[in-house]
Amino acid sequence: MAKDLNPKCKRCRRAGEKLFLKGERCNSQKCAIVKRNYPPGVHGSTRRARLTDYGTQLQEKQKAKRQYNLMEKQFRLTFDKAGKKSGNTGENFLKLLETRFDNIVYRLGFATSRPQARQIISHGLLTINGQRVDIPSYIVRQGDEITIKANKKNLKLFKELTDRLKNKEVPGWLNLDKNKIVAKVLHQPDMKDINPNFNVQVIVEYYSR
Ligand code: SF4
Repeated sequence: MAKDLNPKCKRCRRAGEKLFLKGERCNSQKCAIVKRNYPPGVHGSTRRARLTDYGTQLQEKQKAKRQYNLMEKQFRLTFDKAGKKSGNTGENFLKLLETRFDNIVYRLGFATSRPQARQIISHGLLTINGQRVDIPSYIVRQGDEITIKANKKNLKLFKELTDRLKNKEVPGWLNLDKNKIVAKVLHQPDMKDINPNFNVQVIVEYYSR
């Protein structure tokens, strides 16, 4: 599977804000957005380009794509899928992005970043409704139950999970039993549940050019 090989912190600096791609480091003083909040490159700290409408649309699209840790092809395919559904394309698009398995695993706190969530899933460490699912793009549905595979619970990665989850707040459309580490999708996310840090309508305009 194709992967974005650009350094993660550079992706944040390009977006101009934290995209939380490196787990614990993102909340520390070591975060590149804390230390060098300007675009990467020799002239990054001195030049501020004035953006055209197209530039603004492109910037929002790139920010969302990098935040969800997707390549252009996957991102575009998801957008096309959203456009084929009835209703508002932007809302459909956000719902599809949010209900990806890797995003839900990140939202639940099973992983500290979306890239880590993708890795955990690809290694087959999680189940949905008792079945191993190793596809990060899998769309999780209402009523689905997510947990750690029984024989993987003792992995070092999950040992401190119960402690880590103690203060974790999960979105209202998900339910998490923090002791058993079993999560359930209560319903599809609403726009108020998602509250994106990008303008999805601008992305719709970008792809509708
Ligand atoms: Fe982005 Fe995290 Fe790097 Fe900060 S530490 S720049 S939030 S990936």
